[in-house]
Amino acid sequence: MDETYRLGLGNNDILTRKRAEQDYVKFWEEEAGKLHWFEKWHKTLEWTPPFAKWFVNGKINASYNALDVVSQTTPEKSAILWEGENGEKRSLTYGELLNYVCKVANVLKSLGVKKGDRVTVYLPMIPELIVSLLACARIGAIHTVIFSGFSSQSIRDRVYDSKSKVIITSDGGFRRGTIVKLKQIVDEAISGLDFVENVLVYEHAKIPITMGEKDKKWSDLIHSASEYCEPEKLDSAHPLYILYTSGTTGKPKGVLHGTGGYLVHLYNTFKWVFDIQKSDIYFCTADIGWVTGHSYIVYGPLMHGATQVMYEGALVFPTPKRIWEIIERYKVTILYTTPTALRMFMKYGDTLPNSKDLSSLRLLGTVGEPINPEVWKWYFKIIGKEKCPIIDTWWQTETGGIMISPVPGLETISLKPGSATLPLPGINVAIVDENGHDLPTETKGYLVVKDPWPGMLLSLWQDDEKYKVAYWSKYKTMYYSGDYAIKDKDGYFWMLGRSDDVLKVAGHRLGTAEIESGFVSHKSVAEAAVCGIPHEVKGESIIVFIVLKEGISSSKQLESELIQHIRDVVGPIATPDQLYIVSKLPKTRSGKIMRRLLKAVAKGESTGDVSTLEDEAAVDEIRIALNELQKTISKKSN
Ligand code: ATP
Ligand code: MG
Repeated sequence: MDETYRLGLGNNDILTRKRAEQDYVKFWEEEAGKLHWFEKWHKTLEWTPPFAKWFVNGKINASYNALDVVSQTTPEKSAILWEGENGEKRSLTYGELLNYVCKVANVLKSLGVKKGDRVTVYLPMIPELIVSLLACARIGAIHTVIFSGFSSQSIRDRVYDSKSKVIITSDGGFRRGTIVKLKQIVDEAISGLDFVENVLVYEHAKIPITMGEKDKKWSDLIHSASEYCEPEKLDSAHPLYILYTSGTTGKPKGVLHGTGGYLVHLYNTFKWVFDIQKSDIYFCTADIGWVTGHSYIVYGPLMHGATQVMYEGALVFPTPKRIWEIIERYKVTILYTTPTALRMFMKYGDTLPNSKDLSSLRLLGTVGEPINPEVWKWYFKIIGKEKCPIIDTWWQTETGGIMISPVPGLETISLKPGSATLPLPGINVAIVDENGHDLPTETKGYLVVKDPWPGMLLSLWQDDEKYKVAYWSKYKTMYYSGDYAIKDKDGYFWMLGRSDDVLKVAGHRLGTAEIESGFVSHKSVAEAAVCGIPHEVKGESIIVFIVLKEGISSSKQLESELIQHIRDVVGPIATPDQLYIVSKLPKTRSGKIMRRLLKAVAKGESTGDVSTLEDEAAVDEIRIALNELQKTISKKSN
């Protein structure tokens, strides 16, 4: 924890933090002035816990802020540099994007979509995905994106929940060299759902499709759509979208976000965290199916007139060099990715990134899971060549935007590998105990948000009760994040894992990240996942599953070495009772390790909602390993 890197961009804006500390409501009011409002709000914040209304009665439009503002001055500025997995390339300027969005908005109107109607978007990572969201936003329709890797049942559940009037999809999408037949999957998903009136189909993969009564071809309708669409002047609290969480800890929740507050949060955090400049080429590897894509591919970057790379397909296809080739080709300056992707890149060794020119990079970001310090250092040294600050950003679907992260756009601070560092200005987070009392530094506890923030979710879609129970029942006046964390003596936050996954071993509480990062710091380990199972004496005993780096094979000697390693780096308390080498870990489709499955399988319980699971085979492998364990235990007790 003591290793620090002082690295920033020379920015030293002390004023922003000071203003935020003095009065967070006034602070956000001032920041909101940077956006375009058709009408100013009457009241900055109306806080009736647990419901917050920001910029009450202000009138705003997300697509206007994302497109028209930039298009008025620099319509020729590149907005999207798109590349397909098969090498196809396209680019769109802000002017072109605005024109395209207007046409699609008019198409939606012609299909009877009105303000407040829901539109499901099930598209691959192509410009039409961004266009569809902004077209909805332009007319006040609520978009609900479903990641294009989801199956028909998952789509059906979500479409049913949101009662979408229109579905936007494509004939197919490319992934790892194959074409996923999206339209066909939609057909299965919505069969019998009468409230779905139309399916708008964009022909991307150019494969044969069957067109039914409800189906309309995108190209046919666009052709005759008129060029301009007046943006709706929407209330600040008007819902912008519904998005389901990753489903890491349970059934995905339908998070509902508003417009005004959400945009204010994104506009500012994108500037502070990524220090965006006109000349930057930004590349976020997330899919727009997740909140990272909504906030930091669509709304944040576009509001700043940023130029970004958009890629459809796997980052390691056709070879693991793909990601580094993209960075070299487009001279990417800012890269935003996930710890799980980084661990995958790392698994292939240093030769691949070293063989490409990555010198354009100036800032590196990460999101989604705690980043293991070892992975942080690799990112910093091998990818950033020790000159790019690492921006470890903690936030959630529910928070709408980044909450804890270094802010090179404002200040230069010391970075510590594995720490998301400090809360953003205007964000009041704390570590508390079971009873909601503030904990002293260096004490593990629950991460909460004490004051409302602009990007805060409005509620869960048509379920205020569930919203209250999930986030506002453990502590009545503080938002419960569900994450376990610690603040060090310098006030830096360290995420230790999910509260649900905390292990209790011999009276000590251990976050999963503490043990997993210990294993990942061993040179042979690519990934690790731990869970606890009840133990008569210790309370819980630790089971660890390990994926080795490419070219390393497992052996009894390596296993003992790994156990010795964890004792050395974390302490004897973290010694696992069982250690298994596996070829993959169960993950959500957004790439997060689903520890609740490990635990459920280990305890012989039902695995619950697994609709967001990436690959069933990983769970089977864990099952086999644990069956072996069961046999050994029963042999011993006989
Ligand atoms: P569900 O809520 O359905 O269980 P989820 O929590 O994975 O799924 P997301 O909203 O996509 O859904 O993820 C938010 C969570 O991701 C956070 O609560 C936190 O656990 C983790 N996370 C995100 N960024 C970071 C980070 N920088 N460091 C540590 N953890 C992070
Ligand atoms: Mg969550």
